[in-house]
Amino acid sequence: MRVSTGLLATLMFVVGIALSRPVSGQPSYDILIENGRVLDGSGNPWGRADVAVRDGEIAAVGELSEATADTVLNADGLYVAPGFIDVHSHAGGGLTTASLSAVRPQLAQGITTVIINPDGGGAVDLAAQQDSLREDGLGVNVGQLVPHGAIREEVMGLSDRAPTEEELAEMKALVREGMEAGGLGLSSGPFYVPGSYAETEEFIATASVAAEYGGVYQSHIRDESNYTVGLLAAVDEVIEIAREADLPGIVTHIKALGPPVWGFSAAVEHRVERARAEGVEVFADQYPYTASATTLTAALVPRWAQSGGRDSLLHRLDQDDLRARIRDDMTTNLERRGGTGRIQFRSFAPDSSIEGKTLAEVASKRQEAPLTTVLHLIEQATPGIVSYNMLDEDVGRFMRQPWTMTSSDGGLVQRGDGVPHPRNYGAFPRKLGRYARDQGVIDLGFAVRSMTQLSASVMGLPDRGRIQPGAAADLVVFDLDDVHDPATFRAPHQLSEGMVHVLVNGRLAIHDGTFTGELHGRVLRARPE
Ligand SMILES: [Zn+2]
Repeated sequence: MRVSTGLLATLMFVVGIALSRPVSGQPSYDILIENGRVLDGSGNPWGRADVAVRDGEIAAVGELSEATADTVLNADGLYVAPGFIDVHSHAGGGLTTASLSAVRPQLAQGITTVIINPDGGGAVDLAAQQDSLREDGLGVNVGQLVPHGAIREEVMGLSDRAPTEEELAEMKALVREGMEAGGLGLSSGPFYVPGSYAETEEFIATASVAAEYGGVYQSHIRDESNYTVGLLAAVDEVIEIAREADLPGIVTHIKALGPPVWGFSAAVEHRVERARAEGVEVFADQYPYTASATTLTAALVPRWAQSGGRDSLLHRLDQDDLRARIRDDMTTNLERRGGTGRIQFRSFAPDSSIEGKTLAEVASKRQEAPLTTVLHLIEQATPGIVSYNMLDEDVGRFMRQPWTMTSSDGGLVQRGDGVPHPRNYGAFPRKLGRYARDQGVIDLGFAVRSMTQLSASVMGLPDRGRIQPGAAADLVVFDLDDVHDPATFRAPHQLSEGMVHVLVNGRLAIHDGTFTGELHGRVLRARPE
């Protein structure tokens, strides 16, 4: 019988997987992780197994004590999980900076894939963005969303109106281009300018294009509080878009923001469950903190005052009657945020001395009314803020939902970049350590699933987020006792602890707790139809 060499190679490969035998005295695997407690990403409790890696893929899982490998990692007492997927990441900009491409804040959290261009913002030209991402190498894998807001701005500026038929056609064409280039779906930010100027119909129309490519619709919803339509109507809008455009809808960084909606997590849960029962695919993602981060302008300045952009806002602030109206609206918005003690500055280039201080502290030092301070600061620049506005009870309820993924909403930061939200450094270990191990809000397997297999399935990355032969070898090996997020709101620039080994596409990015500096990340495309 004649056997083609191709078939023979395939047979040997299959036999190799099945029996894990060294082939002709050579080590059979690149890396062998021995004797770990394997959390495979499904949500199941751990089971003891060896995990073998070859050519960037998981080659075998099981009892592999006879196997040999170039590098053997003893995982006795440690947990082995798929590399974590951050489904809402602002790392896109930093990844194109050579000094940041080593992505230490992400890798120290066990993050091996980031999904960028969230909230409707980011690059319109995904192909060009891929080129710049690849230029200096990537420390993690990157998936891209197609940003609705940036596309809208490119087509029609920051004007507060519906698009004409031609403009909508142009926007849809740009969404199509992005999806053709490998986008995983459409991101939107109807809370922000210019997304807030878009009606639901516009999101349905653009999301329908993403749906043709099997994409998702991920939205920073119109209102996480009671600013405009209210939290519940904003969740309903995502559900409506998911239903009408026929694609998975994701309420990103789900939360109940501010005293007026505290406790609303139960009502949100019911709405999502009802939609799912009706056959609408709805998901959420979440970062595990009771504070959010945004800009002072986005938090306090009414949207009507921002129409036309920053210059128009400044122009309005120069007119006494409009300034008074803006200030009036800001009073209510400040109450929604829980008052001056719950807003803390994280970045302000003209005066870094206010970074890390609350609005109450800064205003009192200046001996000004807080809103006077706010207006003065906004006239100089756009201050970044951290806003303490959530209840742990709501955070816990959202976290326990089987449809909630994990995200950081963080980016690439380093010492010197103000006093950013600690989620940039600690989101994933915080969920594993504080919420799963210490507080038992969720169990460990469920937590790992929310950052691996669930996210990979929703985002259309079927070969990631799971430990099984043939999957990409993005892996983390962690010491649960050591998993810790030292980053705090006052001192955020601290890397997370507990990740012993991190593999990106089968290569060690962290080895024995030390960064290797290797750049083996890739730009990921969604599953071909
Ligand atoms: Zn957002």
